[in-house]
Amino acid sequence: MKDTDLPRSNFVRDWISADAASGKYGGRVRTRFPPEPNGYLHVGHAKSIMLNFGLAEEFGGKCNLRFDDTNPIKEEAEYVESIIEDVRWLGGDFGERPVYASDYFQQLYDWAVELIKKGKAFVCDLSGDQMRESRGTLTEAGTNSPYRERSVEENLDLFARMKDDEFPNGSRTLRAKIDMASPNLNMRDPVMYRILHAAHHRTGDQWCIYPMYDWTHGQSDSIESVTHSICTLEFEDHRPLYDWYLDQLGVFHPQQIEFDRLSLTYTVMSKRKLLQLVQQGVVEGWDDPRMPTIGGMRRRGYSSQGLRDFARNLGVTKTSGLTEFENLEYYIRGDLNKTSPRVMTVLRPLKLVLTNYPEGQVEMVEAVNNPEDEDAGTRSVPFGREVWIEQDDFREEPPKKYYRLYPGNEVRLRYGYIIKCHDVVKDPDTGEVMEVHCTYDAETRSGQQTRRVKSTIHWVPAAEAISVEVRLYDKLFNVENPNEAPDGQDFTANVNPKSLEVVHGKAEPSLASAQPGDRYQFERLGYFCADKSSQAELLVFNRTVELRDAWAKLQKRS
Ligand code: ATP
Ligand code: MG
Repeated sequence: MKDTDLPRSNFVRDWISADAASGKYGGRVRTRFPPEPNGYLHVGHAKSIMLNFGLAEEFGGKCNLRFDDTNPIKEEAEYVESIIEDVRWLGGDFGERPVYASDYFQQLYDWAVELIKKGKAFVCDLSGDQMRESRGTLTEAGTNSPYRERSVEENLDLFARMKDDEFPNGSRTLRAKIDMASPNLNMRDPVMYRILHAAHHRTGDQWCIYPMYDWTHGQSDSIESVTHSICTLEFEDHRPLYDWYLDQLGVFHPQQIEFDRLSLTYTVMSKRKLLQLVQQGVVEGWDDPRMPTIGGMRRRGYSSQGLRDFARNLGVTKTSGLTEFENLEYYIRGDLNKTSPRVMTVLRPLKLVLTNYPEGQVEMVEAVNNPEDEDAGTRSVPFGREVWIEQDDFREEPPKKYYRLYPGNEVRLRYGYIIKCHDVVKDPDTGEVMEVHCTYDAETRSGQQTRRVKSTIHWVPAAEAISVEVRLYDKLFNVENPNEAPDGQDFTANVNPKSLEVVHGKAEPSLASAQPGDRYQFERLGYFCADKSSQAELLVFNRTVELRDAWAKLQKRS
């Protein structure tokens, strides 16, 4: 990461800075990013990645990528692969390889035995339902399990037999013996292990008992000598349990710190919901360009730097809020503006004929590749008698304040000449305008001292144009908070049925060399990225983001 990628001032950074200065943990800083491999990473994870990897880097420490893989039923190797790719793409440096909570299954088991021996854990035969019933409520204490006073010997024997595959799923659990009257429900004899006959993506059939998240997380942090275990606010109520386990074991004790998770307007972020969108075919897959996944955003054309800029500039606080989707687009646009070559592409082509331009003549005009980057230079675009323009740039009957092309009006063709419309050719059956006829003024070639006109439009040379498929994406949901669904329906009721429009356009010949992943600004239209399916036979582009910068205007106004 660059210096400008490192976290901005926030309370987590201040906390770590103070600990580093006071010599707590010997001045050492170690963090971890701990995804559960039950889906692809989303933009919310980018916030956590920037914070964890950024803080480690700033304070000369390390950040582990640790898979929290304790639930074999929902986890898959495909997710592990994608997460590794996404973290690397965002610039997270976790060294040679990631680590896995499943690496610690044996140690966690041994520690559980230790807690049993200390009289701090017991094997419980209550069913899931019975356990829920005896748990109590926020206002009422729970009741002790009838199995709570089992002897240490009996607990050791039963726990060993749980591990040795003697009991069916759900028949027994190992529970911590804490306090069924605690005001914190997490402390009411929480389950540490459950029986689950399921193959694990790494340990296969070696285990038929699996540790719960709370029993796994702090101990994994401790094993890895993590100093600051940074997580989202919903784990605040779990911190007493995190601390309790480590205190009972008397092992190295990291500090858990909670911050607010990112929520974006018009977006769902829960992996369960994203999986549902994939499974129901609402989107093409986890990397559909409409998905808020890192993979989807990459495919859509978001740059790693743009996402980092966004994530780094988010507040890190103790209260959760909603971030405007436009804020994300603002940073994406900002980076793409600096880095994307400009090209001319027409999405909805209309033929324009320059009736006084010599037939068969072609001249080359110079076009600037990127006005934001002097080194990017220029390119030549062929110009001739027939060009494609955007249907929208011509009106037979112009509305008020329409300065583009209409009969009798002049506009400039970008990098070319001033032209004037004198005629149209219509389809005799439909009345639709098929061609626009204009004259060009040979004295007005771009770059020379010439008169000015109100409007400049882009174009593509008809003879040399290449065909492109362009996917115009819009928001996947049509309400600000898609999680709130109308009565009796789930969040998919809020899916925007018009989130994708496919058009077939024409592009200037220089675009022919576009490779999947290449990003461009299509002049006057927005930023676009060649899709992974794009080939020489048919170039396919995804619209990344439009040019219109509503957010910047808003910020200027306020
Ligand atoms: P989800 O609820 O979206 O499925 P999760 O919290 O279950 O996400 P994990 O894989 O457990 O996902 O998350 C890995 C890390 O990323 C955790 O430390 C978690 O706190 C953090 N994280 C997850 N979602 C967000 C978010 N929206 N904003 C910031 N951090 C997040
Ligand atoms: Mg989770």
